[in-house]
Amino acid sequence: MSDDKKYVLAIDQGTTSSRAILFDHAGKIVATGQKEHEQIFPRAGWVEHDPVEIDQNVREVIGIALGRAGINRHQLAAVGITNQRETTVVWDKETGQPVYNAIVWQDTRTQKIVEELGGGNPDKYKDRVGLPLATYFCGPKVKWILDNVDGAREKADQGKLLMGTIDSWVLWNLTGGTDGGVHYTDVTNASRTMLMDLKTLDWDEEIANDMGIPMSMLPEIKSSAEVYGKGRGDSLLIDTPIAGILGDQQAATFGQACFEPGMAKNTYGTGNFMLLNTGNEIVPSENGLLTTVCYKIGDQEAVYALEGSIAVTGSLVQWLRDNLKMFNSAPEIEELAATVEDNGGAYFVPAFSGLFAPYWRADARGALVGLTRYVNRGHIARAVLEATAFQTREVVDAMEADSGVELTELKVDGGMTANETLMQFQADLLDVPVVRPVVAETTALGAAYAAGIAVGFWSGEQDVIDNWAEDKRWEPQGDKDQMDRMYRNWKKAVTKTFDWVDEDVND
Ligand code: ADP
Repeated sequence: MSDDKKYVLAIDQGTTSSRAILFDHAGKIVATGQKEHEQIFPRAGWVEHDPVEIDQNVREVIGIALGRAGINRHQLAAVGITNQRETTVVWDKETGQPVYNAIVWQDTRTQKIVEELGGGNPDKYKDRVGLPLATYFCGPKVKWILDNVDGAREKADQGKLLMGTIDSWVLWNLTGGTDGGVHYTDVTNASRTMLMDLKTLDWDEEIANDMGIPMSMLPEIKSSAEVYGKGRGDSLLIDTPIAGILGDQQAATFGQACFEPGMAKNTYGTGNFMLLNTGNEIVPSENGLLTTVCYKIGDQEAVYALEGSIAVTGSLVQWLRDNLKMFNSAPEIEELAATVEDNGGAYFVPAFSGLFAPYWRADARGALVGLTRYVNRGHIARAVLEATAFQTREVVDAMEADSGVELTELKVDGGMTANETLMQFQADLLDVPVVRPVVAETTALGAAYAAGIAVGFWSGEQDVIDNWAEDKRWEPQGDKDQMDRMYRNWKKAVTKTFDWVDEDVND
């Protein structure tokens, strides 16, 4: 490694924005570029992104980050990519144009497809792919595009179309697109498609057939840390190795240095995602969690994880801000919550897209229960913050039941961890310390580490452990009986949201 290559660049293509973050050898942020992209809601339950806008934004933010740091590609040792997971793009490999917008992970349009595929058994493929049949995952989204976009099925059968999660789309474009772009994904992203066998780490042809997806559309599955290709074409990364890919939640787990079985992190963003490292063992879930690939470094054995995915946490705060206009910016929720002592008996179950882990109930819809005339805006703000903590405790309970391992502390990251009230309540409710690292951008950091390790910029996991530093710790202080009572109330509130969607209430 030549001495002038002092940095690694991470591209973090998220649900709401694309970021490029430049890290130095100590794992510290040197410069950042960020740009939001349009959220397209064509109908209730549908969520799309424009893949061309995403590609352009990625290029733009790379330029911004490099420009702010005053460096160029010659000083980059490698580039890593991390991405919103499950969001699916189908594109024409001859023109490079998407045949349809990207269908985003939150999109529920594939409900019927999912029900038909399962034939009454949502766990039909679970022993192979680790996932229940749900609208969340990619396979059914690809099927929807092939079934609904004019001419798509024909082109797919002729081998003219490619599919990919956002990592594949970004990698293909940065490595030249129609002019020789590589069509790869990594094991972590592939493990969210419903099409990859967790044991073989290869596509399951039978499931692809069931979904009518030609094998020629699928990217080659690679490890999370190896050189996939070099920047080509008009990118600012010409000849720079692109050497790390991890889905965003796996990247955060990596960036949080959760390398031992039993270590877990919880990310508090638009939704919440907790991952528990289970080592080289594939642990099937009996309690509504997903089994997924955590990471795979080059030709080392894959490391697996149990995951609890919660669809709505930070986005509930956004909903209070944007739809109810209760405050102007997300952090203000803390002031509002501080105007009251407790939730006043109110519980808010944000089942806006049904319920994800541990329930997986597509028929649920949001509910605010326990209301009396006593309840005011402050109580509602509090109930909203508490909803995130309650949902997290449900996921922790499921993880402990599945793994037999008791959580001793929780590493956290993501935008909502700025909220002291929430973090303290979380520690009280879980009765374990909650710990936040100095570098809160763990997602980008994880992708940078994977890429840097692949090219020898960092020697391995020990560097990640050495660079990890604690910023803040919340110790449990709550009254345990009181916490348990509130948790029981929460669980009762959840049952009130079930069975809402039926023939009268259709999406
Ligand atoms: P993502 O990466 O999923 O886009 P972030 O990690 O950037 O999300 O977190 C943003 C989310 O956190 C938003 O949904 C926002 O409403 C919420 N959020 C940000 N700051 C706070 C705060 N101080 N209190 C509560 N929620 C917050």
